[in-house]
Amino acid sequence: MYNLLIDKMKVVNSDPVEYYFYIDDSWKSMNNLIGKNINFIWSGNVFCTCGKKLKKFYRQNFCYECFWNSPQASPSIFKPELCQAHLGVEERDLEWEKKFQLQPHVVYFSVSSGLKVGVTRKNSIETRWIDQGAISGIILAETPNRYLAGKLEVHLKKYFADKTSWTKMLKGDIINVDLIKKKKEVLELVDKEFKSYMIEKNEIKKINFPLKNLPKKIKSISLDKQNIINEKLVGIKGQYLIFESDFVFNVRRHKGYKVEFSIS
Ligand SMILES: [Zn+2]
Repeated sequence: MYNLLIDKMKVVNSDPVEYYFYIDDSWKSMNNLIGKNINFIWSGNVFCTCGKKLKKFYRQNFCYECFWNSPQASPSIFKPELCQAHLGVEERDLEWEKKFQLQPHVVYFSVSSGLKVGVTRKNSIETRWIDQGAISGIILAETPNRYLAGKLEVHLKKYFADKTSWTKMLKGDIINVDLIKKKKEVLELVDKEFKSYMIEKNEIKKINFPLKNLPKKIKSISLDKQNIINEKLVGIKGQYLIFESDFVFNVRRHKGYKVEFSIS
């Protein structure tokens, strides 16, 4: 029996992707548990990133104070085009925002359920694609900060989707696309101000997840509905654990849930 404070699984992009939970001071492989029964027992408590213990979160896995005051929950996290650290303007915590926003960002296409456009920090691009459950991705542009990447994304969202259907992603019900062809379309669409940020090199990253059979039906399972989960793990995709019963467990949705974790 282990104590596990659920957080996004750490990922390593090998073939297939490797997943890890941080349990008892070390990273434990989840891939090794495929084929085994895993057991979560939830105590009924959740923990905000600030350390506060709660019965439930206020919104989005944050307590009330953090949701309204933490830079990690600020509007520009969800809308990068609202970033202002490059102007020296504080949103919630300028020092934190400078560190986070003033670093190279990329605008990318990925294929999770279909084509989508997105933004992330350059050094976390592969992690982002894996977390989405994308089977492939290509970098379109690199900018020196988050604001410019956000502005370019807003422009591209007029022409390309920016959402994933998580049920289609998990079922493997995917509309495949020619990423290089789509990237060429982008070059025609971008304004002059963004031309110099476009990346000429066309490198398509392919991602292979540890799962043999895709679930046919998708039934979501959560600790709010049942505080004990005991299911046979058959695969992992994105940040979802997939069980033999076709139940899927959204790990990110349970960030901050403290559980007793065991394997049988
Ligand atoms: Zn908090």
